[in-house]
Amino acid sequence: MSKIAVVGADPAGCSAGYHLARSGHDVTLLDKKCFPKDKICGDGISIESIQAVSIMGIYPQDIRKLASDYAPIHRFFLGVSNQIYHSETTKLEAYCIPRLVFDQLLYEKAIDAGCNFMTQTINKNNWHHQGLYDAFDTIIDARGVYAGEVNALAIRAYWTLNRQDLSQKELTEAQIHFDRSLGVNGYGWIFPVSTQQDSIKFNVGVGVWLDEYQKINTNIIQLFKQFIQSNEIVRQMQSKVVSQQPPKVFPLATAKKGNKVADGKILRIGDAANLTDPLTGEGIANAVKSGFHVAQAINMGNSPDAAADNWQYLYESHFEADLRAGLGIKAFRKFSFMNYLLIWLMKQNPRVAQQISHAVAGVVPYNEVIASLRY
Ligand SMILES: Cc1cc2nc3c(=O)[nH]c(=O)nc-3n(C[C@H](O)[C@H](O)[C@H](O)COP(=O)(O)OP(=O)(O)OC[C@H]3O[C@@H](n4cnc5c(N)ncnc54)[C@H](O)[C@@H]3O)c2cc1C
Repeated sequence: MSKIAVVGADPAGCSAGYHLARSGHDVTLLDKKCFPKDKICGDGISIESIQAVSIMGIYPQDIRKLASDYAPIHRFFLGVSNQIYHSETTKLEAYCIPRLVFDQLLYEKAIDAGCNFMTQTINKNNWHHQGLYDAFDTIIDARGVYAGEVNALAIRAYWTLNRQDLSQKELTEAQIHFDRSLGVNGYGWIFPVSTQQDSIKFNVGVGVWLDEYQKINTNIIQLFKQFIQSNEIVRQMQSKVVSQQPPKVFPLATAKKGNKVADGKILRIGDAANLTDPLTGEGIANAVKSGFHVAQAINMGNSPDAAADNWQYLYESHFEADLRAGLGIKAFRKFSFMNYLLIWLMKQNPRVAQQISHAVAGVVPYNEVIASLRY
């Protein structure tokens, strides 16, 4: 049994804590905030995230019961301009659940599995100064985006509309817009969140990569306004808004090349290890999965050094190919005709449409989609 500190108690940290405590380790979860706590997010719990939390014993029926006020998603919409889009029905459900509710589910699982929880801020990378390095055999860094490399920025707003102004489809569809109307290579989203009352809440936002953002002479609030004004679907929706919360901006740590996720006895997971999808900014699934694999790495090793080698190896075998393919597609999307080609291919061939929708929803890795399109 090892003594393990998991710093950061959100999806990545709770997943690691859950699996390690169940394997018999003495696990202390540390977080700068106490629960329940909110987080700026798109609130999209993708099909891949639903699959990932099932290895923590959280199944769709639990989610339906515990988060019954929030939207089950049955359709994925991928659009590249006002007229050019594809909408795909899926058999598997995704959800839109505010992080205040969703993260609490994961936290309770980790505590039930035997983790101890402490509220403590662990500054920068000063593990030695704070006594953690000597007190624990292994430290898992799950502190999120600021512990990783910030390489993208997102803005999120909540809009409330009246049910009578919306179709049933709009209440169950997650929309992603790879939209040139943004004026930059990025993405916009519209996700229904709270759909059980007469007032329906949507999470609407825009994400953009810093390398693109730094080249343009504007700011993310302007980009968001531009997205609303130039995109017919979003503009129509905004005209029906009855109330809204001001938008909030938060950074992202999406995939990067040559990623080193282990450093001595410090093992980085989730956003701290830059595991977020480089095309959609979706990071919960990989955060939860990385918690599972880092626990495997520790259980397979007989020393902290072996655990570090194992984690780097498991990262490379389970995450790297998919993330690298996502980075490749992101680079192609700089050429706007590639975005149109994508939708054209989806309209031509239902199998391709399903594969691409599932890749964006995270069910099929990007590298497998690229391979299957060659045949
Ligand atoms: C606007 C926006 C929209 C997004 N939309 C989606 C979406 O729809 N779907 C999706 O899957 N992903 C989305 N993401 C990404 C997703 O939020 C992250 O990928 C995910 O939360 C990563 O989980 P994590 O556990 O690695 O990190 P986090 O969720 O960031 O958790 C880090 C934890 O560490 C704690 N912490 C931080 N610093 C310290 C410290 N110094 N000491 C102690 N504790 C600390 C924090 O309090 C927190 O609990 C979005 C991100 C943004 C910014």
